[in-house]
Amino acid sequence: MRVIVDEDLCLGCGICEGLAPEVFSLANEPFAEVLVDPVPEEYEEAVIQSVEECPEEAIIIVEE
Ligand code: SF4
Repeated sequence: MRVIVDEDLCLGCGICEGLAPEVFSLANEPFAEVLVDPVPEEYEEAVIQSVEECPEEAIIIVEE
């Protein structure tokens, strides 16, 4: 799986980081950065949950 965050849509709420801290980080930017590309299989479920929970629909799965 490969995933991106649309930084123009992201509000920096931190929900994705809370659900998948191995994949998303707000440590360096006001928006969520993707830390691992491609996403290791063990984190895919947390990424899918993040996509569903993101209030701005800013997380986009670009490759299943
Ligand atoms: Fe940004 Fe969405 Fe993550 Fe919130 S859940 S920090 S809006 S990508």
